[in-house]
Parts: sequence; structure tokens; C-alpha cells
Amino acid sequence: MLSDRIAKVGASETLRIMAKAKELRAEGFDVINMGVGEPDFPTPENIKAAGKAAIDRNMTKYTPNPGLPELKKAIIEKLKRDNNLDYAADEVIVSSGAKNSLFNLFMAIISPGEEVIIPAPYWVSYPQQVTLASGRSVIVHTREEEDFKLTPDALEQAINFNTKAVIINNPSNPTGTAYTREELEAICTVAAKEGLYIVADEIYEKLVYDGFRFASVASLGKTIRDRTIIINGVSKAYSMTGWRIGFAAGPRHVIAAMGKAQGHNTSSACTISQVAAIEAYDGPQMEIAHMVSEFQRRRNYILQKLKMIPNVSCVEPKGAFYVFPNFSAYFDKEYKGMHIRNSHGLAYYLLKYANVAIVPGAAFGRNDCIRISYATSMENVEKAMERITEAVSNLRTAPSIKRVTLSNTMTRVKGTVPSETEVPVKMRNALVSEIESVLRHDSYFEWNANISGVIVQLRTNMRNIYEFWTENWYPSELESDLEPHAIVYAVDGIAGREPRAFYSSDAKTGIIINCDSYEQARKWALGLVTDIVEHVSETHTIHGACLDFDGKGLAIIAPPGVGRGTIAYGLLRYPEAKIHSNDFFVVRYSANQAVADISERKFYVRTRVARTYGDLAAVFDKSKLENVVTRKEDCLYPTCPNLDSCDLDRGEPHCYWASKYSRALLDPYWLGGVDKYAKRTTLRAVTVLRKDRTAPFVEKLKAGDALRYLEEGRYAASDSALAAIDSEPFYNPYIFIQTRDRLDLHRRYFEYLLKLVPCYLINTGVEKKAAVVEKLAEIASDM
Ligand code: PMP
Repeated sequence: MLSDRIAKVGASETLRIMAKAKELRAEGFDVINMGVGEPDFPTPENIKAAGKAAIDRNMTKYTPNPGLPELKKAIIEKLKRDNNLDYAADEVIVSSGAKNSLFNLFMAIISPGEEVIIPAPYWVSYPQQVTLASGRSVIVHTREEEDFKLTPDALEQAINFNTKAVIINNPSNPTGTAYTREELEAICTVAAKEGLYIVADEIYEKLVYDGFRFASVASLGKTIRDRTIIINGVSKAYSMTGWRIGFAAGPRHVIAAMGKAQGHNTSSACTISQVAAIEAYDGPQMEIAHMVSEFQRRRNYILQKLKMIPNVSCVEPKGAFYVFPNFSAYFDKEYKGMHIRNSHGLAYYLLKYANVAIVPGAAFGRNDCIRISYATSMENVEKAMERITEAVSNLRTAPSIKRVTLSNTMTRVKGTVPSETEVPVKMRNALVSEIESVLRHDSYFEWNANISGVIVQLRTNMRNIYEFWTENWYPSELESDLEPHAIVYAVDGIAGREPRAFYSSDAKTGIIINCDSYEQARKWALGLVTDIVEHVSETHTIHGACLDFDGKGLAIIAPPGVGRGTIAYGLLRYPEAKIHSNDFFVVRYSANQAVADISERKFYVRTRVARTYGDLAAVFDKSKLENVVTRKEDCLYPTCPNLDSCDLDRGEPHCYWASKYSRALLDPYWLGGVDKYAKRTTLRAVTVLRKDRTAPFVEKLKAGDALRYLEEGRYAASDSALAAIDSEPFYNPYIFIQTRDRLDLHRRYFEYLLKLVPCYLINTGVEKKAAVVEKLAEIASDM
């Protein structure tokens, strides 16, 4: 399994669109590429010659890690000449591109959980790099009416205890917005006063229009300079994207820390390119002026053409080589049955019907816009604008389509987190006092759930966790008078702590720190219930699904990864079948009967089952959701058979199988009303699923063998990699306390059950799912 960190990072949207455009071109379509992020001008000859000369001079070995002293000198002179800034050699580091400088910077300054404020629309790599550095992005949306500029007020409001830095990209990719000196001063004064680092990405410094006067953030005075790290490079100004040279200039200790990150990663940047970059900074600068005037001509042309498209607005860019017009008036429209719901849909439409490749605004955190790059010839610009104008004029209002609004939370942390289950009371108390100090009254939620008779109280500062919790469980009665049997804390925003979960059986407390996904809270709740009911109220807890056939219950127990969920839903198509539970239920024994009761009001299910049972998608559309993927870049299903004709690319609002962490809180009544749902049943058979290439399809086990098999709880070899464990007693991940006594108790319950009902071992590794479902239905009909 890949790391959590990488699982949260998407592929570059721009690169994907470009790849698609290339593919279409190979198929013979005349696709114009308006998505590019690099100047279309050749690298100036003098710079190329310097690169060649470097090879002739045998300058093909490593340089010092932070860069060639001569290049640093050229950069220092550039900073003086262009920005009136004084930097010393140890305040500058040369990296393999500005992107690499940024990455090293985040590695150097971000501790896990610390926040970086990113104004949106943002350059796509900022949030992803912050994630890779284990930090958290706090996206501050700006307003089109304010030229997409961050305001001091908005910045101030986003700052909290955990805020480490703010990114100012001036001029901006994708909007082309450029801040005046006064505007920068107002924002940076707030940032410096609050002690934040200011990451000033000034890579487009030279590409400014209409006589705009660029001011570097570091030139705004000593206090601000001391908090600022300038990011710049030769990629854009000298048309040297492929040479990969960028730099950072900032406080000595930050630059030194970046040097450490760089030293263990890329080492020095390419030597030949460094020599060429010296020529870029020291040589003649005329080509820049030539490039700028050509860019300005193209920008003016595009702006004028955009004005002629009805209902499109566009902020006038002052820099970079992009325009970022708002095309949302064309959402909810259609052409030849193709519905456009969002910027992805429009991008796909333009690719298909206008043969123009642009980048959807959603990739930059702004769905109502698209990014058009004019880093391509005037001839292409003219043709592309004509085609875009015509294509959108063909769009007609589609009364039948509505934008789908999902109740969906994308969580920062996916799934469960590393945990400790034997936390002593003293440590529990210390943790509780630590987290209670951040549980502010104005963001505090508390709710008592009644889970099979156990009152479990949630205490959290996360609204999504609270909302999932209250929908997942039945409420306890007389809430205010009851002392809960157990408590689950789920607290976010604890500085300096990795996402982690702690469990204290003695204090009946589950503590979850800095994890915003619901899965961990539910797991802790069910663990507490298992811990309490098994020895207090003679109740047997089972991790498994259960179906009812005319009052007779069929339990399905399985390790992860063998298809329990899909099989359970598959059984529902039998007319007499009702769903009882999908993951957890309790059994009480009386008068030689095993009476199974539900514990959950709603099922927390993987939305991936919609892959097999497409009709569930309509039910999920109205359910509460977690981590449903709405952008292709978030897709976590690299082997998806639809990848090349992905619905998300075409503007579908979401995909239920793009992430294994995607969950819905499913109301079992929505599967078919009272006829398809039973809250109580009497168990008549137990089936245990396994996935094995060689074992027989079906084996009926003797009670003793079945008990031993369950007790051992062995995972199939292929699944142990998935779960990172080989076995789990009774296939039950909710048994946190695995003392001899406790496991004995579980064994005795199962011993009792297996005396009452038969047990079948079913191998899903040798037959198709349909055959497995049929077999289980056959077993059910014999119960
Ligand atoms: N910052 C911004 C805003 C950019 O647009 C880019 C390139 N697209 C970079 C940084 C990275 O530049 P480099 O090629 O030097 O890595």
C-alpha cells in the first residue's frame, strides 16, 4: 500500500489535459494547446551558448549543494538591481527549478499539522506540496470583484495558533492578478505581525503589462524581509523551463534548513544549467522586453474577444501569461446531449467540440473559471478564441439537468490512523487535559449515542464527525441526566501532534487526535461497545454482515478484501431477503435461540459497491458522504478501466469508485423500505468467507473446527499485505482488549452459537461473485 501522504496527492491536472490534447492530435485532430505553462519563445542564444561552453570547460560535475558561487553572486546582483535588495551568499540557495525551491522550503519550515494559508485561485502545486510536507493547507477564497486578491482582513481571519506561513504568488498563476506595492504592504504587515513566514513566489516578476510596477515582498521593510522567502528562477523570464534553475532568498536559518532538505534530495542543481543561468542574469535583457510586448499583444486580443462572449466576465491580468475568465453562465447547458455541469465539463466540451485545450478552474480551486494560457503563437490564439466563441454559442439551456450538490466532506486524513490500545489512565488523563484546552466552546459538539444499550458520548470540535455520529447511531434517551458509559474524543487542531488514536479500556475512553475522517470515530465507538457489553450484559458482538430470510438470519463473517459487502448487497435481490446489518451486530442467547439485533441506525459503507450495484448510486446521491471524489486529480484508482474516458473529465459531478476511502452513511430503509430491512432476526447459519486459489468452494465445518477457524481469524496471504496483519481473532477488529480472559469470553459465545447453527466456509477465490451469492442464497433457503 502507498503512503497516506502520497494517497492524498493528485496528479497534475495541466499535465493530464496536455496529454489528452496530444493524444487527440495523434489521432489527426487539429487541437490547439491553450493550457501550457511555459513561454513559447526559444531560450536566447547567448544563454544556450553559455550552457555549451560549460560542457567544453568540463563543468559537468557537482557544484556546491546551495549552488555555484558565481551564480549566487549573479542572483544577489539581480536582487539588488531589480528589487533593491541586499542578500548575502548564505541567504540564497539555488535549486532545480522554483518548484524544487518551494518543496525544499515547505520541508524546512512545516512541522506535521501546521497550516499554510493559500489564497485561491492558487497554483496547483502549493496545496499538494504542503500535504507532502505533512502540513495543512488553509485555502482562503478571494473574490472576482476584488481581482482575486487576498485582503488583509481575510488573511487575519484565517490565522490561528497553527498557522506557519502564507503564500503570495505575485503575479499570479492562474489569474494574472498582480498586487501593487501598497496592497502587498497591507497584507504582509498582518502576516509579519502574526509571525508568519511569507512565501513570495515571484517567478512571473518580469512578465507584467500596462507599465505595471512590480514590487518584491522583501523590499517592504526589514520586519517583512526577515519573515520572507523569495522564490524566483529563470524558467519564465528567460524561457528556460527545461533548464530547471530556481532559487530562494530569505533568512539565513531557513536557507540553511532548505540546504539540508536539498542535500539529501537532489544535491546541487544541474551544473550546466547553473552556468547558463549566470548568463541569463548577467547577460543582455532585451529578449525579455520583446517577449513581454508580444505577450501583452496576445493578452489584449484575448480580453477583447472574451468581452464579446455573452455573460463571461474576466479580471484583466496584469502579469503572467494566463487569463482566468468566469464561464459559469455556461454551466447547466448542453450541446448534442452533452451536459456541462462544471469547469471540467466545459474543458472537456471545448476539447471535443472546439479542439482547444484549456485547464478547468477547479484545478486551481475555483470551479466557475477556466484558465487560458497565451503562451502560444498569435495565430493559435486567434484560431482558439474563434473556436471557443463558436463552441459556447452552440450551448443551449438544458432544463433537465441540475447541478448535483452532494453532502460530501473531503477529509484531510483518510481512513483510520495509527493507534495505541493499552493507554494507562494517567496518560489518558494527560491527553484529555491537553485536548480539552483546545476544545473551545464555540466549536464544541457533544452527543450521546445509544449503541446496543451502551451510552457512548462524542466530544468533538469537528462538525463533520458530529454529523456522521448523530446519523450513524440511535440517540440515547434523557440525554442530560445520563452519565455515559464511555466517551469518544475526536479533536482536531492539536499543534505538533501527528494524527493518532488512543484507547483506554480502564477509563472507557477513546481519544482521536488530528484525524478528521469519521472511520476512526466509528471504530472507537464499536470497540468501546465490544469492550463493555461482552462481559457486562452477556451480549455477543459480531463483526460481520447479516441478512434475514423470512425471520431466519444468515451471518456473513469475513476478513477485509474478500467482498463481504458486495455479496451481502447481491443477496438482497432475492425477494425474501432483507438486510439486517452490514458490518456489526449483537447476538443474545435465550431459549436456545441466537437473537441478532442491529447496533447502527445507518450503515457506513464503501461507495465502491456502486461499481457492482449501479442503482446504489442514486441512494448515495442523497446520503451523507465522505471522500467522494469530485475531481480527477483526487482519483485513487489508478487501475480504473474507465481512466481514459473518465466521467469526471467530462464534467460528471462525482465518481463513487475513484477512492477506496469514499464512504456513504446509507439509510437501510432506502434500499427498499420496510420490505427489505429487518432490525432483528434469529441466526440460523453462519458463513465465513475466505479468498484462496486452491481451497474448495464450499466446506461445511464441524462446530469445533469452525470455532478454531474463527478463533484463529487468519487472513488470506494477499489480504495480509492490505491490512498489514496476518490474523485477527474472530475476524473482529473491534476487540481491542485481547487478554486471555476476553478472548475466552468471545470463544465461549461463538462456541454457544456454533452449537445452535451450522457454519459454512465459502471460498470467494475460485468462483465468480454471482456464484457465491447464489450459494449463500441456497444455504439461506435451507436454514
Ligand atoms: N510557481 C508558479 C506560480 C508557477 O506557475 C511555476 C511554473 N508553472 C513555478 C512556480 C515553477 O517554476 P519552475 O519551472 O522554475 O520550477
